[in-house]
Amino acid sequence: MIHVAIKENIYGGDHYCALCGEKIHTKFGPDLFLEGTNHIICHDCGRDHNPMLVEFLELMDKAGSRLANVA
Ligand SMILES: [Zn+2]
Repeated sequence: MIHVAIKENIYGGDHYCALCGEKIHTKFGPDLFLEGTNHIICHDCGRDHNPMLVEFLELMDKAGSRLANVA
């Protein structure tokens, strides 16, 4: 059973998804991780295991960029 968590990405840059090995470009801020680890996973894998969490993360992302545009 795979558990996905949203954690603060303090690394940024390019990583490989811990599940599928796909290269992902990440940025600082909330991101998807395997729970209890520092292994970043891509949104596609996250969606396979916890679609609600990915949706929430993408909503936060959109809200964030909207705020940045206003400022
Ligand atoms: Zn993946």
